[in-house]
Amino acid sequence: MAWWKMCVPKNQGGMGFRDIHCFNLALLAKQAWRLIDNPDSLCATILRAKYYPDGDLLKSKSKRGASFTWQSIMAGITTLKRGYIWRVGNGHNINIWKDAWIPNCVTRKIVTPRGSHLLSKVSDLIDPASNNWDEELIRQTMWPIDAQRILSIPLSQYDMTDFIAWSYTKNGIFSVRSAYSVEWNYQYESRLKYSNGMGRSIPNPIWCQIWKLACPAKVKKIIWRTLHGTLPCRVTLANRHMKVSPSCPTCSRGLEDTKHMLFLCSKAKEVWKRLGMDVIIGKACEVDLAGEAILEYLLLLPDQDLSIMGYQNVREMIAISAWYLWWERRKLVHKELTQNANQIAMGIIALTSNFVNASSPKATMKKGGWYCPPRGFVKLNVDASFDHDMLKGTMGAVLRDHKGRFIAGGNGKIDYCADVLMAEALALKFGLTMAQRMGCNRLIINSDNMEVVETMQEGGQSTGAAAAVFEDCYHYACDFVTTRFEHC
Ligand SMILES: [Zn+2]
Repeated sequence: MAWWKMCVPKNQGGMGFRDIHCFNLALLAKQAWRLIDNPDSLCATILRAKYYPDGDLLKSKSKRGASFTWQSIMAGITTLKRGYIWRVGNGHNINIWKDAWIPNCVTRKIVTPRGSHLLSKVSDLIDPASNNWDEELIRQTMWPIDAQRILSIPLSQYDMTDFIAWSYTKNGIFSVRSAYSVEWNYQYESRLKYSNGMGRSIPNPIWCQIWKLACPAKVKKIIWRTLHGTLPCRVTLANRHMKVSPSCPTCSRGLEDTKHMLFLCSKAKEVWKRLGMDVIIGKACEVDLAGEAILEYLLLLPDQDLSIMGYQNVREMIAISAWYLWWERRKLVHKELTQNANQIAMGIIALTSNFVNASSPKATMKKGGWYCPPRGFVKLNVDASFDHDMLKGTMGAVLRDHKGRFIAGGNGKIDYCADVLMAEALALKFGLTMAQRMGCNRLIINSDNMEVVETMQEGGQSTGAAAAVFEDCYHYACDFVTTRFEHC
């Protein structure tokens, strides 16, 4: 197997080994990111003076005779450019047509061609009087898809400067891990599409499923090999012109391919029967599918279909069963002592429940229900919904006093919204404005969104797509005598 194939990410059917070249580029991108994130550092000051005096690192070019450091950083910038995104503040620093500033879009850029438009900076699209998007101008200038995406970018009512964020992490902060995956995909994705075995342009959900299973790594590896058709059962070996009889070593009644070994062999059948899964497997085998396909089908069955079986972790049990059957067969070939079907079934159940119990995180306690705020305080509850297809949402807010009495409430539509977090942040902004209008002084704010609560507890600093909304929320919150943010 070629080395690059070993490096295919796990969610795309690979083993997820690290490609050193891509990893180095990701590390260099981190160096470049530091220069942007920390422009006043000594290193940034020196390099800026020499290589990008206008302060625009992303537009800097390689120079002849440049130092090794600078050449390395230039390599990192190339990777960084594959994933950076501008967060719009006042829009003065962002070029409408050339820069990456559009969330919810693969290229992060405008798709409308520039044509003869004179507009150049994003600030040209903002109405200076209201600090809102100039909707009419945007709809006149841009294709509808761009218009919708632009209008869903929040603007701050306060003067916020544009800044660069990383678009492949939720919080907008650069991570080597995500830069590595961006770089890897850039380098190898097209090869992956044309190579056999893993040649799918849309990642098959089975590859994610395998590595998520709560079972030992040895089990996952065998499942992975089975699904790739590289488990050395007799038929596979015979096909590779090895001198073996293709018949099953366990029952000697039939050719031993994956389907036979895992599902059709008399011993396998008996094991599945004792596990209570013979009916579902029987049905799957009726359709003329290969063993790999049946295993994939079983592991991807929806939860409700699996729950009828009466066990808690049926997927894990299926995987462990496949591994167990393979292991028993291996022992037989090596002339070691093997178990009977009953012992195997018991072993599978024990292994499944032991591993699941050991690896499941402790159940987290959720605080129950709504409770009244202390005397003198008003409680604000905010919530939002988000429609991913329409990029729209709804939001609501309720104010109640220390006896739980309703003071005010309201809800509204969100016409332009990029993601769930933004919807929740807009709901918070909506609620805070309402509380302000009602003349509240001391406020306890409840949101069911942990990220909103944590961001506000840390002073509203955000580098995510909703940065401008948090900025506003922070300013509003400062107007109250007391505000306390709680997760509910
Ligand atoms: Zn057999």
